[in-house]
Amino acid sequence: MFFDTHCHFNFEAFDKTVDDVIERAKKVGVDHILIPGTDVPTSKKAVQIAEKHKGIYAAVGIHPHHVFEIYSKVKAQSQNFLAPVGIHSDLNQIEQLLSHPKVVAIGEVGIDRHIYQKTKYPDYKIGEEFVRLQKEVLKKQIDLVVKYDKSLILHNREAKADMFDVLNKTWNKKLEGRSVFHCCEPDHELLEFAKDHKMFIGVDGDITYYKEKQQFIKLVPLEMLVLETDSPYLSPFKKFPNEPKNIPLIAEFVAKLKGISVDEVAEITTENAQILFKI
Ligand SMILES: [Zn+2]
Ligand SMILES: [Zn+2]
Repeated sequence: MFFDTHCHFNFEAFDKTVDDVIERAKKVGVDHILIPGTDVPTSKKAVQIAEKHKGIYAAVGIHPHHVFEIYSKVKAQSQNFLAPVGIHSDLNQIEQLLSHPKVVAIGEVGIDRHIYQKTKYPDYKIGEEFVRLQKEVLKKQIDLVVKYDKSLILHNREAKADMFDVLNKTWNKKLEGRSVFHCCEPDHELLEFAKDHKMFIGVDGDITYYKEKQQFIKLVPLEMLVLETDSPYLSPFKKFPNEPKNIPLIAEFVAKLKGISVDEVAEITTENAQILFKI
């Protein structure tokens, strides 16, 4: 049995294929899949898909990249960009989704300083004002995690210092054993932080070709590791779309790196994911 802890069935790439893709995943033993949201519409879609399938769960939240939408809206209305009115509406909708029984986590949420080649926002720029808003939106979503006793899926890209800053300010004991650095960058400080705060580390298909990650994953104790595909992205074959049936390939690779059996990787990472999402 395998658990794909991060798969975007809620993205357009799966609009027509989701039922077949789930079937293919189940055939190779991937019978637990979590779909994270990245904004309000994809969070709603994650819940709708999870509702229809056994073993499929949803997370809801606003991804730091899509905080740009809020940022642009607030800017256009020339409001103070940190004024609660600017971020209220989306966060209220996220909060409402938390009462659904298939919603086990808030995610993916975090900080992202990456300059994307492809984005739907033509004027996308990483400015300090925008990052401050990302941090504010992240804080508010972490508050929701604590308030509703959910798990936390963190997205961090090239923004470790900002991430630590927010986590240090908002950390709550309840988040221990219930948080994950999804698609974790190969970074010793992230690993140390995760160890200190009893967090999990998500490993993806890029482990098959990304040398630094291979070295990094060797250092991550198996008890901290969860598997994820980040489908439709990060295919182990660099082919789009990736899908959860590729989870066993990631497990095989991890098993080789750690010198243990695939069964052991499957068993422990699935157990870890169940602890992470409290299911
Ligand atoms: Zn992510
Ligand atoms: Zn993702």
